[in-house]
Amino acid sequence: MHEIRHSAHGYWLEEAPAPEPLPRLTEDLAAEVVIIGGGYTGMWTAWHLLDRLAPSSIVLLEASICGHGPSGRNGGFCETLWLNLPSLRERLGDERALRLVLRSVESVEAIGAFCEEHGVDAWYRRRGTITASAAPAQDDAGRDAVAAAAALGVPERVVALSPEEVRRRCASPVFRGGVYVPDEATVQPARLALGLRRVLAERGVRIFEHTRARRLAPAAGGGVAVTTADGRTVRAGRAVLAINAAARGFRPLRGRLAVTSSHVLITEPVPDVLEQLGWTGGENITDGRTFVHYFRTTPDKRIAFGWGGGRIAWGARLGGRTEVDPDVVRATHRHLLRVFPQLEGRRIEHAWGGPIDVSPSHLPQVGTLPEAPVHYAFGFTGNGVGPSHLAARTLAALATGETAGDELTALHGDRDAKVPPEPLAWAGGSLVRLANLRKEELEEQGRVPSPGLRAIAGAPRMLGIHLGR
Ligand SMILES: Cc1cc2nc3c(=O)[nH]c(=O)nc-3n(C[C@H](O)[C@H](O)[C@H](O)COP(=O)(O)OP(=O)(O)OC[C@H]3O[C@@H](n4cnc5c(N)ncnc54)[C@H](O)[C@@H]3O)c2cc1C
Repeated sequence: MHEIRHSAHGYWLEEAPAPEPLPRLTEDLAAEVVIIGGGYTGMWTAWHLLDRLAPSSIVLLEASICGHGPSGRNGGFCETLWLNLPSLRERLGDERALRLVLRSVESVEAIGAFCEEHGVDAWYRRRGTITASAAPAQDDAGRDAVAAAAALGVPERVVALSPEEVRRRCASPVFRGGVYVPDEATVQPARLALGLRRVLAERGVRIFEHTRARRLAPAAGGGVAVTTADGRTVRAGRAVLAINAAARGFRPLRGRLAVTSSHVLITEPVPDVLEQLGWTGGENITDGRTFVHYFRTTPDKRIAFGWGGGRIAWGARLGGRTEVDPDVVRATHRHLLRVFPQLEGRRIEHAWGGPIDVSPSHLPQVGTLPEAPVHYAFGFTGNGVGPSHLAARTLAALATGETAGDELTALHGDRDAKVPPEPLAWAGGSLVRLANLRKEELEEQGRVPSPGLRAIAGAPRMLGIHLGR
């Protein structure tokens, strides 16, 4: 087999036009709002703030280059919250749950409109997502969302597909029935992130890169003070914390997320294989595993195939095998060939990975720290491309004091399960991961996992921690 090019940043950032450099912070500053983190969440927050504040009063600090974290490396599934509808109904009641999901649809639409309006060629295509069962044990995946959408009078938004209907869209030999959500889109994630960065810089938002925030504290006389690794200070009325998995290293939020990892492969262009599969409609596809496989095509007819089965990170250590993990990449390649045996012998051009900010509820956490005017959003749990735009709307409103909260801020409460400290989280998480990987492999082989294996795989549920969608 030829050597796979394996890097932390991955294919999309290499494919996207190189960004113009932006400065480091070299002096102390004052601002109305300081945003920490230049992924989609931080940058969309700056974008929404532009409706309310002068660009020069918004400061964004990014430790590396905006969009070079997961926002520029993900699978590019720009999804809604339709599959979360059942758990949203439990938390919010029917009316508010439906309103929130419809707002997540508006975000997917707004991202497309933004690209159109600002000349961002992010390959935005709105062809929907299929959750396809790839083993009998996965046959129920997404079916609760089909029932929930029907119960709320919107059956056309989450549709059950027969095995024939799934295979008509993509004829993998392992696919069975499925569920289709038409509202969703795909993007080239790095082109989207870097396009957004360009537009913000052109509009005059003060963005400082290679500028890591080290300390965030209430300022004497009100507001907050952010101290950078270089010893500079930004004083602001309010801060927005948009640091994704790094929130696991921030004491007030530490117990509210765990960090796992996800990895992606991309093939050479394979137009003949796509023709053979009949997968020419551009749909996103996932299987129904807990540690999900997700795959999509590109305009130049490659297949990008990801797997959310990467290792658990220790605390907030986000480098190392969270980003580059040859073992997980080899396993992902094996899984790719199970789903698409037609790809045997075809080149995998690139592999990469990154951290996932897993919320115990699998729902994003958006709110305000009790002790300071600091607003945060994290916990997208592998579904942040669309929902980060939605969360950023709430963050921008909170940061200008417009609202005490909305459906998103009402999602979480004191009764939520907490993630234990290290080494317990890492040891327990790693054991549960291995048990789930084994269980799902056996199920795909048509074998029955032992009761012991099932018990370990399902243990988080006993602690109120939700695994899978
Ligand atoms: C391999 C992979 C595949 C994925 N696939 C999908 C998918 O297909 N669809 C989907 O919806 N989601 C997917 N996700 C998840 C998605 O990428 C994230 O939910 C989303 O990008 C979150 O955006 P963010 O802005 O919150 O975080 P990030 O993009 O991580 O941005 C946070 C930024 O904060 C910066 N930062 C951290 N600490 C500091 C500090 N102290 N000071 C200054 N800056 C700091 C980081 O450098 C980073 O740039 C995937 C993730 C990975 C890793």
